[in-house]
Amino acid sequence: MIVVMQRGAASREVQQVEERLRELGFATHPIVGVERTVIGAIGDRRDDLLELVANLPGVERVVPVLRPYKLVAREVKEETTAIKVGKALIGGSEVVVIAGPCAVESEMQLLTTAKAVKEAGAHLLRGGAFKPRTSPYSFQGLGEEGLKLLAQAREATGLPVVTEVVDTRDVELVARYADVLQVGARNMQNFRLLQEVGQAGKPVLLKRGLAATVEEWLMAAEYIAAAGNQQIILCERGIRTYETSLRNTLDLSAVPLLKELSHLPIIVDPSHATGNQRMVLPLARASIAAGADGLMIEVHSDPARALSDGPQSLTPPQFAQLMEEVRQVALVVRKPIRAQAATSCQAR
Ligand code: PEP
Ligand code: MN
Repeated sequence: MIVVMQRGAASREVQQVEERLRELGFATHPIVGVERTVIGAIGDRRDDLLELVANLPGVERVVPVLRPYKLVAREVKEETTAIKVGKALIGGSEVVVIAGPCAVESEMQLLTTAKAVKEAGAHLLRGGAFKPRTSPYSFQGLGEEGLKLLAQAREATGLPVVTEVVDTRDVELVARYADVLQVGARNMQNFRLLQEVGQAGKPVLLKRGLAATVEEWLMAAEYIAAAGNQQIILCERGIRTYETSLRNTLDLSAVPLLKELSHLPIIVDPSHATGNQRMVLPLARASIAAGADGLMIEVHSDPARALSDGPQSLTPPQFAQLMEEVRQVALVVRKPIRAQAATSCQAR
């Protein structure tokens, strides 16, 4: 259930309500909004307790949450959760763009690409150091060496870093270097990993599973929230359907749907959704038109030589063109893209 506190309820009252809820066997999650605080109380539903809790000092009303996901439901929080990463606010009034290579391959490749995406206006840098590859014989990523290169690229460009963690054993290591922990499509229902990243103290970018329904995806987000972390960014990256012409089928309807169902920000990754660089620009435009809070785009300084996902990677000039076009769509939907500070990248 959700316990809605009165506007201006004292923090002591919030604490007392939380204590009472815990005595009654609920796990409590306070969510501090602009207008008021609500407390998500997770436990067995007992209708007889609704009135008891509603009568506690400072409580305005108690609302049972009927959906299976609770903490991430729009019902518990009217305003969209905005997640601050560096200077970017994901879920705020502006579109945020995350760009970079599929995998970190070398210092030269990463720094060249990072500087190019920064120059074109990207707000965050992506790059995998631990890669979830279909084949065990494919390039698996540079591991910690890749994380160090990402930290170096962050220093050179000022861009915060998003990188994937594929295993519970690596969460602490990856969290030491990353600004945002990515949980990939293949791990969306790795519940232990979701719990671990929920406790790592960093925002989490949760990709939609290859064949996950929207409800399963939100339940995965609920695992992270229930572990104590509400800083979750959802990322639609295409799903498997009967259509095989492209790598996946981008489910753009998930964007406005999730805006109704959840208060979490939602971004779109048209690169993995299609696997084809020619599809990335039109679908990036469409994603922003559909109301996405941001984009994740794969960019490589030399896609023909990429160790993974070359066919879907944009060159730096193609990415600059995308930023230009997306900027115009963003203005139309009144969610502009903030220009990066005019300072150029520091040379190292
Ligand atoms: C990625 O973003 O590097 C990635 C592997 O994507 P996905 O999990 O969506 O396949
Ligand atoms: Mn990739």
